[in-house]
Order: sequence, then C-alpha cells, then structure tokens
Amino acid sequence: MFLQFRTLKILYHTYFPIRQTMRNNRLRAIALTGALVLFLFSFFVNARAIPTDSLVLMDLSAHPDDEDGATLAYYAKLFGVKTYSIFYTRGEGGQNEIGSELYDDLGRIRTKETLEAATILGTEVYFLGFPDFGFSKTAGETFIRWGGKDIVLERLVYFIRALKPDVIITNHDTITTLPDRQHGNHQAVGVSAYEAFDKAADSTFHPEQFQDPTIRPWQVKKLFFRFFGKGNPAQVVQINITKKDASGKDIQEISLDALAKHRSQGMDKTSIERIPEWFRKHTYALIRADQHYPPDAYDLFSGIQPSMRVIARLRAETVDFPSLLSLNVSPNFSVLERQDEKDKFQLRRNFTVTLVNNSDEEVPVDLSVTSDSRKIFYKSYQIPHGAFADKVTLTVTKSIAAQRQLLRFDALPGQSTPIEMKPVSKTVTLKPVHAEFEKKIAIGLVKTYDNTTEEVLQSFNISYRLIDSAMLAKGDLHKFTTIILDLRTYQYRADAVLYNDKLLEYVRKGGNIVCFYHKVGDWNGKQFAPYPITLTNERVTQEDAPVSILLPNHPFLNSPNIIRPEDWIGWVQERSIYLPADDTTKTSSYYTRLLAMSDSEERQPPTSILWSQYGKGSYAYVSLALYRQLRILNEGAVKLFFNLISQSRQPSKRGRRARD
Ligand SMILES: [Zn+2]
Repeated sequence: MFLQFRTLKILYHTYFPIRQTMRNNRLRAIALTGALVLFLFSFFVNARAIPTDSLVLMDLSAHPDDEDGATLAYYAKLFGVKTYSIFYTRGEGGQNEIGSELYDDLGRIRTKETLEAATILGTEVYFLGFPDFGFSKTAGETFIRWGGKDIVLERLVYFIRALKPDVIITNHDTITTLPDRQHGNHQAVGVSAYEAFDKAADSTFHPEQFQDPTIRPWQVKKLFFRFFGKGNPAQVVQINITKKDASGKDIQEISLDALAKHRSQGMDKTSIERIPEWFRKHTYALIRADQHYPPDAYDLFSGIQPSMRVIARLRAETVDFPSLLSLNVSPNFSVLERQDEKDKFQLRRNFTVTLVNNSDEEVPVDLSVTSDSRKIFYKSYQIPHGAFADKVTLTVTKSIAAQRQLLRFDALPGQSTPIEMKPVSKTVTLKPVHAEFEKKIAIGLVKTYDNTTEEVLQSFNISYRLIDSAMLAKGDLHKFTTIILDLRTYQYRADAVLYNDKLLEYVRKGGNIVCFYHKVGDWNGKQFAPYPITLTNERVTQEDAPVSILLPNHPFLNSPNIIRPEDWIGWVQERSIYLPADDTTKTSSYYTRLLAMSDSEERQPPTSILWSQYGKGSYAYVSLALYRQLRILNEGAVKLFFNLISQSRQPSKRGRRARD
C-alpha cells in the first residue's frame, strides 16, 4: 500500500513540472491525501480496483503496430501518465513476413509482439477481440463482420468505463476519403471512437455493465485523431518526440525500438529514414471535448486537472498471454488419394511435428492425433527448453464422398508439469483434390517465408528443387520447366535481385517464370520483370467477387485443367492483392490481361494474372492471393496453380491484346 502511495506521488510530481497551472501545490496535496485515504479504503472494500490520480491516456488501434508508440511513450516516460493501448483485433488477417503462420497462429505471434512493444513503451495492452478478417474497404463492412456497430460500441465503452481515460487518441480517422481512404477496420475505429465519447458517459447505454461497481459512466474529456495534414482542424497539438527520457534516450528512439518488435510485419527492418516524412510528425487534431479547454499547441492534456478515479482490474482473459508450449505441424494440409474401390480415399504421409517449450523447465508432453474422433497416433516426449522436432507417419483411410477431413494434433503437457502450461492443438486439412498436372514438369522454387507452395508440391509428389543462392549464381536453371518466384521474392531474396539477369535469361532461352505477388515497395521502379509492371495498392477483397475470363483460350485457363465458373467458388479472405496498374504506360501492353474481377461497387484493373512471351519462354505475374486458397486445398485454386506450372518450355504464340 505504501509503495502504491509513493508511486502516486511520483506520478503526480513528474507530470506537473511542465504544467504552469499548478500554483497551490500544497492545497492540492492536502485535498489529494484526503481523497487518497477514501480511495485506499475503497480499495480494501473492492480488491479489484486500482485508485489513481494520474492522468490517463488511451490509444485506439485496429491492428497490432497501428498504435502511436511515440506519443504513448512521451506521456508515460516523461510525465508519468497512465497509458493504455487498446487493439480491436490481433492482426491475424495480415500477411506474415517471418514465417508461414497465418490466422490464429499469426494472431498469437502478433499478440506477443504487441506485448513486447508495450513493455518498451510503458503501456498496458487490451484486446477487444474482434476478428481481423482481412482488408476491407468500408467501416460498414467492418461493423457487419464484427457483429454490428452496437456490439463494437458496447465493447469499447466497457473499456472506457473501466479504464477511465482523460484523453483518447487514435491514428485512425473518419475523415480521409478516396483516394487516401484508410482500411475499413481503421475507419471503424474512428467512427466508434467518435460515438463512444458520448455513449460511455450515457448511463442508459448498456446499463448492465454497471453491475460491476468499478465500471461507471465515464466522460472522456478530449478525443484526438492523428492529423496528416488534410483539412483545417480548429485545434492542433504537436508532440515533441525528440525529447529525452531519464535514461537519455529520445522518445523517437524508444518508439522505434518498440516498433521493431513487430517482426511479423517486417518492422524490425524499419529505421527512421524508412518512415515517410508525413508519418514522422505526431500531430493531433482535436475532434471532441466535453467542454472548452485552453489550447496548448504541445499538450493533449491542456486544461485537464488530474482527478482521482478507480480503474477496474479487467478480466484476465482480455489479455491472452501466449502459451509456454507451442506446436507446429508441417505440412498444414494434405491430399487424400483415390483408391481403386469407389469413393475410398487414402493418406499415407509423414508429418513433421515441432514442439517448442518456452519455459526453462523440462516438461513431459503427450502428443496425440485424432481423425473422426478416433485416436490414430499417440506418443509421449520429454521436451527440454527450446524446439524439438519429430517425424510422425500417419495412415488414414476414408470411405467418403469428396469432402474435407480434419486431422487434429493435440499436445498435452503431462500431469507432473512443474509450471502452468496450456495444452495446444493444431488442425491439418485432408482433402481429395481432382486436379491434373503435366507429369514431366521439373519445378525450381525460389522460396521465401511461406511454406504453402512447397507443401502443395510435396502433397502431390511433384518433382521440385529449392533454388538457393549457389544455384542462382552458378547452377544451370535450364533443367527446370518452370521457376516459381514465391511471395515477395525480391523483398526477401537479395540473391534473386542480384541474379535477376540470369532469371530473365532463363526465360529468354525458353523457360517459364511464374512470379507471385509483391508489395508496391518491393517492386516498383526496379524493373524485375522483362517488361514494365507497376504495382498499385488496389485489391479485390471480396473472396466471392465475380470473375470474368478475358481470354478463354489461354493455356492457363485450359491446360491441363479447364477452369470453370465453379473453380472460383469457396475462396477465402480475398481474391487479389497489390494489383498491377492496367494503364499501358505503367504496365506494358506486352502483357496479356487474363482475368477481370471487382468488388461490388468498383472496377479494378484486370491484372490478376499477367502473361507475356519473352524470347522463347514466357513470364507470368500473378497477384491472386492463391496461397490462401492452396492452404485450404481449394480445388479451383489447385487447378489454376497446376496450369501455371504445367506449361511447356516453348509455349505457342499468343495474340496480344486486341486494343493494343
Ligand atoms: Zn491497421
């Protein structure tokens, strides 16, 4: 209790030196002590409550790494302000730049990264638990996917009433529109922040929350949106992030150290130079206030006096710490092969199971595999600290119609485990897939961070070789019928950048390259393809967006598999990302545009697959989110993938686009 009191005094004093308003320190101290006695008493009554008199700042973010770490650190480190970072999602719908984990696994990685960053920033983190379902274009779509606007407001209001912030800030606004409009998830944060400002104080809004005595109506005093220089806000506040904290580090450095923890978003490679000029300023526009406060061009809290409040200790499950035990299974999916008898399918395959023990103790772990609620494998291990891998051979026979099957891998810490360790499980998809590939193909794969392409090749026993740096430098590439440049090759394989001339020569002499998607910054201005391709940030985010075939006779759509309308059904998350521009001054007219697809309201470039002859060979650039579909063994996507890699060395001449 004494400690707590001292902490309060320190917070109180550290904030006040910059605030000129404090004249009658002694009077305030007496009043404060009185208030403290009362609150310490209530603290005994309700052990869940935390009384505080420090100012409270809350930052709202849609996804991990969206927080304004610099402003949070500025107030926490320099002025002892209590800071909270609220995340609507765990970012599981994003792309993983350090491994093949996606969805929930990626969410766990991002949760851990966010907590590491928060430790550096000195903030406390809560997740609202909404799903990150991938890129969306409107707040409306986001609210629907999050269960409706009322649910979103209810949850946000709960956290405001519990944590009682004086000031709320967010990087996300509701102001910017096309062409700079933000991600729909970001827009939804801005909209809900704006409305929650009133709702949190309104005692008729979800009054059932007040059953917990520490959850009370709460009036936030000011709401700010990060301001990127558009429009003409009434009041603007600039945060001076070059100030140094007690350790002599400036706030900008601290925030970059925290940002670097977001490794799965590639943020460990960020330096101040790589942050665009317009994003380096931490400027905020005042959007709402409960009354007039004297403005201060450098302080979000101007005119706000610290006041005592009881902060609720929130339910533990709002912060979901990653388990000390983790489990990975490769491949993530596998193909059931048709047997002679009608509708009998079989799988006989090796899986690599990796168990990681993040605790310091050696722990017993039981691994079991279940198929159709029947245990088909069981083994016990002693796992020391670190990673441990084992090969597991499974045989499964199914007499089913062509349906998806699941194999569930469970790792259960033994009874005698000395520390608390949660069990973990992993599901592997098994599916019969009817898709043909050319039997004589030899694939070279320039692999990056994702395992999907390799696992598909393995699942179908397609002959392939990984192309490493030595092979790029000295090897004979012409033994490959097709070379696949996997996701973001030119960002993750410096050797591919270095030996790109050799890759292009391979095409010129009759090879085929299939290049998967890149981000704008990986690619533009660097001339990696034989003819210019300029990427944009356009996406087709609706996974069921209608697809029109522009060139029905092209081999990619016919051989060896005929792509039919049903092959576009059952896709997940999105169709296409970072679409090349259609404009022929940006993306050469030498490329044939094969497919057109659009989200409901807009027309997007027909550039999901670009194809061109080059010398004796051919080059394809594919911005379809094919890897997400291959992971679930979507049959149409597998057929299309096989068509892309099954073309002969010297494809027949194709007409160029009529309009050129
Ligand atoms: Zn975001």
